[in-house]
Amino acid sequence: MQVAVLGAGTMGHGIAQVSAMAGHEVWMRDIEDELVEDGLDAIEANLAGGVERGKVSEDAAEATLDRLSGTTSLAEAVTDADFVIEAVPEDMDIKHDTVTDVESHVGRETVIASNTSSLSLTEIASALEHPDRAVGLHFFNPVHIMELVEIVVAEQTSDETLAAAHEFVEGIDRTPVEVTDAPGFASSRLGVSLGVEAMRMVQEGVASPQDIDTAMELGYNHPMGPIELGDVVGLDVRLDILEYLREELGERFRPPQILKRKVRAGKLGKKSGEGFYVWEDGEIVGTSGDWEDA
Ligand code: NAD
Repeated sequence: MQVAVLGAGTMGHGIAQVSAMAGHEVWMRDIEDELVEDGLDAIEANLAGGVERGKVSEDAAEATLDRLSGTTSLAEAVTDADFVIEAVPEDMDIKHDTVTDVESHVGRETVIASNTSSLSLTEIASALEHPDRAVGLHFFNPVHIMELVEIVVAEQTSDETLAAAHEFVEGIDRTPVEVTDAPGFASSRLGVSLGVEAMRMVQEGVASPQDIDTAMELGYNHPMGPIELGDVVGLDVRLDILEYLREELGERFRPPQILKRKVRAGKLGKKSGEGFYVWEDGEIVGTSGDWEDA
């Protein structure tokens, strides 16, 4: 199958990689040569890491790279594509411009998928002349490691498009779950609920961030506790999602003061060196505030 991935950033290059690994011919498009090159370099590095760890054979890595091409031309990327997946920035205007541009170049049968993590698929699809071809494919970061893909069904998604989405996801060795186009889909809504309650517990002094995380790791077998996960994702990103979910779903998603204060202070988590924890070289070295050190 011919696949086009739009955006060579964090998600786009990963989606291009797993598609090419599964045997699809893939065009990856970004808006500048340098961004395309960065995406291709990141794929090469991922594959080299896979070879080193014995997860990918040298032949498979080489064949994957042979099936991948980069371009800045939208027409070149999508004209012959059976499946187009956009992973451009999370902004409705950019999504609308992107999908309408794509539709002007592709045949009637081409599926147009969006990797949006929070926007309404139904609203993205509404820009299309044939919105029945739209579907959400919500991948997780890092794409080459994470097994889950949420298939998001827009109001307009046809049965044929949905079937094609399932076939595609299974074909690239990922596990799909199907969700209707509701705010936060399944994963973010539930994941964020746990995270926000954990932050309220820190705020109320119920337990330290580390004890809350340990409780979920050892008591519930979560690979990472909800407070640490918030720091890894970025507290600013968490706050944006909570504000959006509060608007759409109600007060149970109201962001706690402790989160707002941290974001206002530039304590964004791992990426800024401090959030609920203190970070150095990507590792936790202490707990922020008055708690005993981690
Ligand atoms: P990113 O900023 O890393 O990459 C976006 C890329 O798109 C950039 O390289 C940018 O130059 C490029 N771009 C902008 N306009 C374009 C266009 N018209 N055509 C092609 N490329 C264009 O962003 P990201 O984190 O990869 O996120 C992309 C999408 O994936 C967003 O919708 C985001 O919500 C979603 N998503 C992100 C994550 C995550 O953990 N980062 C997880 C799931 C879903």
